[in-house]
Parts: sequence; structure tokens; C-alpha cells
Amino acid sequence: MPDLHLVPPIVGYVIAGVFGAIIGSFLNVVVHRVPNEESIVFPNSRCPSCGAAIAFYDNIPVLSYIVLRAKCRHCKEHISFRYPAVELLTAALFVAVAWHDGLSVALPFDLIFTSSLLALVFIDAEHMILPNVITYPGIVFALVARIVIPLLSGTPHFDDVPSLSQGALAGIPIWVVSLVGALIGALVGGGSLWLMGWTWEKLRGVEAMGLGDVKMMFMVGAYFGWRLTILTIFVGVLTGSIIGMFLMVRSGKRDMQMLLPFGVFLGLGAIGALLFGAPIVAWYAGQFR
Ligand SMILES: [Zn+2]
Repeated sequence: MPDLHLVPPIVGYVIAGVFGAIIGSFLNVVVHRVPNEESIVFPNSRCPSCGAAIAFYDNIPVLSYIVLRAKCRHCKEHISFRYPAVELLTAALFVAVAWHDGLSVALPFDLIFTSSLLALVFIDAEHMILPNVITYPGIVFALVARIVIPLLSGTPHFDDVPSLSQGALAGIPIWVVSLVGALIGALVGGGSLWLMGWTWEKLRGVEAMGLGDVKMMFMVGAYFGWRLTILTIFVGVLTGSIIGMFLMVRSGKRDMQMLLPFGVFLGLGAIGALLFGAPIVAWYAGQFR
């Protein structure tokens, strides 16, 4: 095993960025096909306009878009900027997660978690749904990560685990404590979203929130534990309400019926919490000591 610490950090970030762009390219396929219940593996990518198969050399993330000057090689139809934008954003986030985690056991898990959230964010933005084929495996993945990361790394890792293991769960194996933390986090995340939707429904007699948001927050809550989950909901509700009110004022409608893709704000809030949440939670907790 070569000593990976001898590799200059910049090389690691470049690898993370290139890998992120490739995953971003795959996310474009997921976002395009999953809502239509199509296979994400077959057939190969085709031009949505003329149906011509896209050769591998025309399917290189970001670069092909620039080389082809945003036009299909066959029919010259304009290619949406959305595709390279998703690839660039995913690349940037992979670099950010690599910077946050360093070379650690948690890194591949955090990258998968971030990719799943991005897929949900983009699909919710376009179709206003959060598909079960992503949220259900996401919940299972979060539970697996909760067991495997402490087992492999030998540290509590998740920020809710240290306090749990000092309290009622003292002396219990760390991965069990971690799993208990996941269940608490899932209840806090999914439960509070469900409660918000239920309250709104009772008050206004209309369905405000899809169960997709609840399932997504089961996944986020299980992965984060309760602390970062509360931060995620806080950021999601705050940004969602600000943008919702802005849209209401601009459209001149006094109608809260306008359904916002709330999953977009929760998903972006979760990615923000993953990258920047630990110091914020620590600062907030410090106010009460
Ligand atoms: Zn074409």
C-alpha cells in the first residue's frame, strides 16, 4: 500500500473534481430517466432532439459541451446549459467534500450521500417529486454507513454519538450507539416534516407536503443524527420561506397554495450542513454552557 499522504493535496482535489464531473454526467442521466421510470443503464445516451446515439468522445463531462459549442454533432440542435452546469456543480461539491473529509473512511460515504441528495434536488426542482427508488435505498445506505464507518474508523465519527455513548448507552458497542443515534435522527427528521405537513393540512385543509419530503428526511436524519438534522430543517425552512415569499410578492398572488419544491431547499440545506454544520452546531451548543 503506497503512502497516500505523500501525494500533494492538489492532486487529490483534481481527482475528486474529475470524478465529481463524471458522477455529475451520470446524475444528468438519473435526473432525466428516473422520473419516467426508465433504466439508467440502457440504452446509451441519445440526443433528445434527433435521437442520434452520443459517442463517448462527445459525452465527456463539460469538455464536450465546449468542443461542440453547445450543439448536437448531428442535428445542430442547442444543448441545454443544464448538463454542464450539473457536472460543474457536482465536481465542485466533490472537491468540497474531499476538502472537508480528507482521506478518511467517511469520504466515499459522504460522496455517495451528497450525490443522492443532488439527484433528489434536481428531480424535485424539475418534477416536484422525490422518487422512492432514491429515498428508500438512501435510508438503507444511511443505516449501513452508521454501522460501517465507526467499525472501520474506530472513532464515533457522527457528532451525536459521543454524548449518547456517555449517557444511558455507556458500555454498549459504538456501532450500536451509532445506530441508535440514526434512529433518533430519522425520527427527528422524518417526524418533524410529517408533523409540519399534518399541521398545515389540519389548518388549511390542503395537502402541503408530499411524503417524499418525509422519506428524504428519514434518510438525512439517519445519516446525520439529530443535531445536523435540526440544522438542515432550519436552513431548508428558512431559505424555502424567503424564496417562497419573494415569489408570492413577485407573482402578486396571495396564495400559499403555490407548492414549492421543498425537497430542493432541504437537500441543499443538508449538503450545507454536511460541509459547514459541525462548527455551527458546536458554537450554538456552546451558548448554553
Ligand atoms: Zn441531435
